[in-house]
Amino acid sequence: MVNLRCYHATMATPRTPAQPLSTEAELSIARAEAAHRHAHLFSERSAHIKQSAVRDVFDISMRPGLVSLAGGNPFLQSLPLEKLGTMAYKLITEQGLTALQYGGGQGTDLIREQICRVMEHEGIMDALPENVVVTTGSQSAQDVACKVFTNPGDVVLCEDPTYVGALNTFESYQVRAEPVRMDGNGLVPEELEARIAQLRAEGASIKFLYTIPSFNNPSGITLAPERRQRIVDICRDAEILILEDNPYGLLKFEGTPYVPLRADNPDDVIYFGSFSKILAPGLRIGWALVPEHLQRRFYLASEAVTLCPPTLNQMLISHYLEGHDWVGQIASYRGLYAERCAAMLAALAEDMPEGVEWTTPEGGFFVWVTLPEGVDTYPLLRPAIEAGVVFIPGAAFSPAGAPSNKLRLAFSAVAADKIREGVRRLAPVLREAIAG
Ligand code: PMP
Repeated sequence: MVNLRCYHATMATPRTPAQPLSTEAELSIARAEAAHRHAHLFSERSAHIKQSAVRDVFDISMRPGLVSLAGGNPFLQSLPLEKLGTMAYKLITEQGLTALQYGGGQGTDLIREQICRVMEHEGIMDALPENVVVTTGSQSAQDVACKVFTNPGDVVLCEDPTYVGALNTFESYQVRAEPVRMDGNGLVPEELEARIAQLRAEGASIKFLYTIPSFNNPSGITLAPERRQRIVDICRDAEILILEDNPYGLLKFEGTPYVPLRADNPDDVIYFGSFSKILAPGLRIGWALVPEHLQRRFYLASEAVTLCPPTLNQMLISHYLEGHDWVGQIASYRGLYAERCAAMLAALAEDMPEGVEWTTPEGGFFVWVTLPEGVDTYPLLRPAIEAGVVFIPGAAFSPAGAPSNKLRLAFSAVAADKIREGVRRLAPVLREAIAG
């Protein structure tokens, strides 16, 4: 809060015409007075919205000379930009009156059909366009789900660790996120069962499990296929929904994608997909595949927020899916990310001090590094930046934000030689922290 008294004191001091306030000072006084007038208007909810730790570090990581292993940005340089440009030009000049107009709240008919084809590649064979709700990224699908299903004080379950953007959404709805332990094979079914029983015994109202079963952000861990149906059965028996977030599903380095939880469980899972990682996040187009009996409320809530998803962007994506070998494009991304991941794993094996462990992802963008117990990674950020490398401390990915001996490294946006250099810069910082 700006100290108003200080400004009033300044204003009350007699001034001669020779000492007029600068326009800047006048403006900041006016702004401070307005802030004072409106301070009592904030909703309780808005006090819970935090600036994401990833965003903070993201800004720092743009500094020249730093190797950023922080942001999980997709690598866009290999997109067919000329072709996309021509498509966008044709779209506006030939179909501009539609493309620049409002559209249906659920998304265009064409893109919803095409999304069903994309989901076939992801392992969901029975999706119907009428159950697809197009959203502004899967981030907004998470928001809509909270709007539809949660009241303040409700509990949602999530993996520990989980996606920081989802945690921020939960907090903004005053929902308590309860983490469930993962091991190297993902969410542990027995832990999930026990957690539900314990929370129910405490009188908690549990609404859903939010899960990223394939190539979890931030850990890179994948839920083993033999655990998947068990997780769904536990939630079904407990009458809890599953929100399955699968933005990295098609980015498995080798072989066919893991079968999503939604595939054989159409009534118990709301599935979130996105074009952000397989095409471009700037287009802000994602979707929710919603069970028939929940679809109407979900769609109405989404419409109440955005009216309709951006028509131009949906139509551009439709042209891209029709006019470009998008499956081939994803195949080349898989190769590229596999190579970068391999470079990161090799560099870690070479440079990391004794006592440091890390995950070996089969897809996605991230490696999760574990330091010995008791070493907090947050205070290591500053010396790491001084050494020329940025990461995201593990505390960002847990609901309580408690000190964490983990950190996330992203390999998606950085060339292999830079990745090696970044890990080389990080190693002495960790070595010193471990030595204590
Ligand atoms: N879910 C997960 C697990 C993510 O990692 C991200 C982006 N980093 C999102 C959702 C947000 O995706 P979108 O751009 O579709 O909103």
